[in-house]
Amino acid sequence: MINGAAGIMFQEALAKARRMAPLSVHDLLALLRAQDQEAEMLFALADEMRAAFFGNEVHLRGIIEFSNYCVQNCLYCGLRRGNTELSRYRMDKEELMEVSRQAAALGFKTLVLQSGEDPRCTGAVLAEIISGIKKELDVAVTLSVGERSRADYAAFKEAGADRYLLKHETADPVLFRRLRPGATLSDRLRKLWWLKELGYQTGAGNMIGLPGQTLESIALDLILMRQVGADMAGIGPFIPHARTPLKNCRGGDFAFTLKVLAAARLALPGVHLPATTAMDAVRKDGRKKALRCGANVVMLNVTPVHYRRRYCIYPVRAVMDKEPEEQLNTFQAVLAEQGKKAGTGYGHALRLAAGNLVIARALSPWQSSPVE
Ligand code: SAH
Ligand code: SF4
Repeated sequence: MINGAAGIMFQEALAKARRMAPLSVHDLLALLRAQDQEAEMLFALADEMRAAFFGNEVHLRGIIEFSNYCVQNCLYCGLRRGNTELSRYRMDKEELMEVSRQAAALGFKTLVLQSGEDPRCTGAVLAEIISGIKKELDVAVTLSVGERSRADYAAFKEAGADRYLLKHETADPVLFRRLRPGATLSDRLRKLWWLKELGYQTGAGNMIGLPGQTLESIALDLILMRQVGADMAGIGPFIPHARTPLKNCRGGDFAFTLKVLAAARLALPGVHLPATTAMDAVRKDGRKKALRCGANVVMLNVTPVHYRRRYCIYPVRAVMDKEPEEQLNTFQAVLAEQGKKAGTGYGHALRLAAGNLVIARALSPWQSSPVE
């Protein structure tokens, strides 16, 4: 039985979510506190909402981790500069082009280029690579290369980049500063804002289970993502890495992260929400489960296997050795099992997909206007 004040607040929040009224921090807290039967109701509504916006299509993106050099020293990440035992690599232009060609040949319509903050990969070099990919291949390009200058972001956009993932990591400014020495949340948000101004489809996102993180700050993460008009929300559990200062921390809880994903689907109904690889690191078939709780995107790793071990942001065995074809087969089967299919289009932000524009507008009055 669901009863008591918390149960009433949960039911009220769920009813608001169902009629797509903007959810407050209190509503989100009620959803995040869902227990047992309530959690099942939360997951069911998130799944319904995903289906209302995306039907049975799931977007499969191909991620290429092209450099593991990083000047930052984020306490949570295995690529931090303080991890001197890591052997570093950087693909050159030709190699990255070749990996991109192979991914496009497999049918990926979005390539995600990800790296540490690598100063040797200058704005000009990366812009040249992006423009090479866009000229030769029929793919959308998403970047995830961290904090750069506005001029770099403009050059990447000019070169043809479509999207940019810059997770805000946590909406708690004090925690942010502690976990990312020398960086501030306000700078990160300013950069997200630049990306928006420049016309990128933008992605924000957080980690769940960071040491010192509160439930309230996670609710605020979702509000923040709505306020910045995020087109994509990268949400995954924090996973302790043995060669970082956070090695002895507990890390994110799987069941709770699912609740955050589902709440994100309700707070930002039309957002692209990946079932992140980190979900598979904490639970076998974690991504598969996430696809039933509101997620509508999966990123498959198309980085050559010999580099993958060295791109160890966090330890995850599940995808370490699997070739892209094998991962594709696995997910095609997962989707078939769930009555879904892989999207054949680019999987742009919903607000830009012409066919869905009217629906998105009608259903979601707070979505921002399409970019010209
Ligand atoms: N350097 C870029 C992109 C690579 S890191 C950047 O920082 O934006 C990509 C994401 O990995 C980060 O945004 C962070 O949310 C996530 N990440 C890093 N370390 C992690 C860990 N230990 N557990 C889970 N996610 C982690
Ligand atoms: Fe570098 Fe990104 Fe890892 Fe921070 S999270 S150390 S910026 S790769």
